[in-house]
Amino acid sequence: MAGEFGNPEVVQEDLDILLIGGGMACCGAGYEVMRWADAAKAELGMDLKIKLVDKAAMDRSGAVAQGLSAINTYIGTEQDPADYARMVSNDLMGITRDDLAYDLGRHVDDSVHLFEEWGLPIWKTDENGERHDGSQGLPALKDGGKPVRSGKWQIMINGESYKWIVAEAAKKALGMDRIQERVFIVKLVNDKNDPNRIAGAVGFSTRDHKVFVFKAKAILLAAGGCVNIFRPRSVGEGTGRAWYPVWNAGSTYAMAAEAGAELTMMENRFVPARFKDGYGPVGAWFLLFKAQAVNANGEVYMQKNKELLNDYPPYGQAAVPASCLRNHLMLKEMKEGRGPIYMDTVTALAKLRETLTPREVKHLEAEAWEDFLDMCVGQCGIWVGENIEPEKKNSELMPTEPYLLGSHSGCCGIWVSGPTDIGAPTDELHADKDKIPAHLPKGWSWGYRSMTTVKGLFTAGDGVGASGHKFSSGSHAEGRMCAKSMVKYCIDNKDLKPELDTPVEQLVEEIYKPVRTYLEFKDYTTAIDVNPNYITPKMLQFRLQKIMDEYVAGVATYYTTNDKMLKVAEEKLEMLKEDAEKMRAKDLHELLRAWENYHRILTAEAHMQHIQFRQESRYPGFYYRADKNFVDEENWHCFVNSVYDKNSKKWNCFKRAHVDLVDKSK
Ligand code: FAD
Repeated sequence: MAGEFGNPEVVQEDLDILLIGGGMACCGAGYEVMRWADAAKAELGMDLKIKLVDKAAMDRSGAVAQGLSAINTYIGTEQDPADYARMVSNDLMGITRDDLAYDLGRHVDDSVHLFEEWGLPIWKTDENGERHDGSQGLPALKDGGKPVRSGKWQIMINGESYKWIVAEAAKKALGMDRIQERVFIVKLVNDKNDPNRIAGAVGFSTRDHKVFVFKAKAILLAAGGCVNIFRPRSVGEGTGRAWYPVWNAGSTYAMAAEAGAELTMMENRFVPARFKDGYGPVGAWFLLFKAQAVNANGEVYMQKNKELLNDYPPYGQAAVPASCLRNHLMLKEMKEGRGPIYMDTVTALAKLRETLTPREVKHLEAEAWEDFLDMCVGQCGIWVGENIEPEKKNSELMPTEPYLLGSHSGCCGIWVSGPTDIGAPTDELHADKDKIPAHLPKGWSWGYRSMTTVKGLFTAGDGVGASGHKFSSGSHAEGRMCAKSMVKYCIDNKDLKPELDTPVEQLVEEIYKPVRTYLEFKDYTTAIDVNPNYITPKMLQFRLQKIMDEYVAGVATYYTTNDKMLKVAEEKLEMLKEDAEKMRAKDLHELLRAWENYHRILTAEAHMQHIQFRQESRYPGFYYRADKNFVDEENWHCFVNSVYDKNSKKWNCFKRAHVDLVDKSK
């Protein structure tokens, strides 16, 4: 039966492996999974049924949609994975999982080599030290080709079509029959016979009136991080602009939490300092063009305020201080009235001109534009619109609204099993080990790499907590690791028959509730958006953003909150959750918006609960608890983890001990 609005067709499918998301992580998994699935078929006669679903179109979905101008994680021959784990730890104020970072460090380059093989142009330096912005004729990275490094870990690419290239490889490996685009997954479903096991997922088509009910033994949930829970700086005519891609709405964290997975470090957030209004990237300017950020008086605040870094040893004193602390120094200037803050492009380009030929300078200026054209075309619009020629006029910088993510310079996410061959400490010391729910694993490794604490549920990329700085290449590599583990899980659980713990009719009703609400009440008033019986998804989103902005350390308060403000936020979020039940959907587009909001609310709540639980300000520059405005290494050098009870709708936060597995004194 073909579906119609309010009466969707229900499509049910039994799978072995379901991949949710079509971003870097799922493209990695999609590429890798067939190799292991084919081997399982050849050697064991197992014909694994696999499907990938993405709410959007894979060619341009996720955070890499617009393209990128650098791959931010490439270890190369100059560093080793332990260096990488040290960098990740320092940048995230000491609380990351060394096992995950080290493991990623030893695998990530392989994904970069594949990207190059698939046609991604990577800038190279030839034997004379000359730079080539493409791969023409120079040896491939895996054959000793030397990448142009914009920083210690980053390499430059011509990456406008990066996502196309990576998606194409996944599509070719999987085959289009195993891919379904424009399917938004709303919730995961646990197993009827084991509440701590995954059994399936449900979602709907954003184009047709169809609901999909998937049963699967293993699910990879890699639907990115979360944007738009805080009121963005761009409002009114600028609505819709943000640094983080507006289509990742916290689905990863919310759905995992509802399925009972343990989350970690949800108090962490990322507040990137970017070019104002266009949110354009700053990496190439700082690292490649050696520009400095200055206050309105032209003073380099990283120099001027460097004493402040001593308040946060050892994270402030590293060669590259933690990202949040760099914001901390900038915010001092802004708060004390010495803004605007500028990227001093004029001085940087003038200095480069001293040593370069006019032709080289022209080339460099083209590169500066290309940096934006590759990954943030909107910033070019700002430069053109505001008559900015970077060699003549500096550009404003601004710390953005907060975002939640686990693969860039942030580390919130889900607690996952690490590799089996690296030390896996159990909880000890100051961690409240008695408060950790008994059903949760004790150590850091419980068998399958990247499996969450829910059996059969895996995550990668922005989903994996306590291990940031994976970026595009690392997320891809992590997806590939998941694919391998998931096939192994399916082989080990050959006879498992997942059974959904909720009847299909109930799941369909739940998904279509906003549509039902609309159809029931739409004639009550003559103005479609004004109705006492429902709230539009747009209005609900505004309410969420206002609460988070004003009480949970958004831009309105210079990222500052306190225990009292958090208490108010807690109450308001509780009420918002109640009202979310009354969201309406007048079409499929609004149904998508309604469910995105629902995911956002749960993600926001997790963030708020974790900030409330952690009695310190671990990330100055990203957020401050004014009532606990210090880093307390003695009591809070630990993970804050949580589990959510979908029945009582309550969060349980607890500590887990942090242990260094890599020597941090180096
Ligand atoms: P994504 O790639 O974002 O993919 C998420 C996927 O989930 C998307 O396909 C989305 O459509 C889908 N999805 C979301 N919700 C649902 C749902 N409910 N149901 C179904 N599908 C869903 N890395 C670099 O290496 N270099 C850089 O220069 C760089 N710059 C960056 C700039 C920005 C602004 C951002 C945000 C990131 C940048 N990164 C960079 C990091 C890189 O983009 C991420 O690390 C990587 O994309 C994370 O991969 P992922 O698969 O976890 O998420």
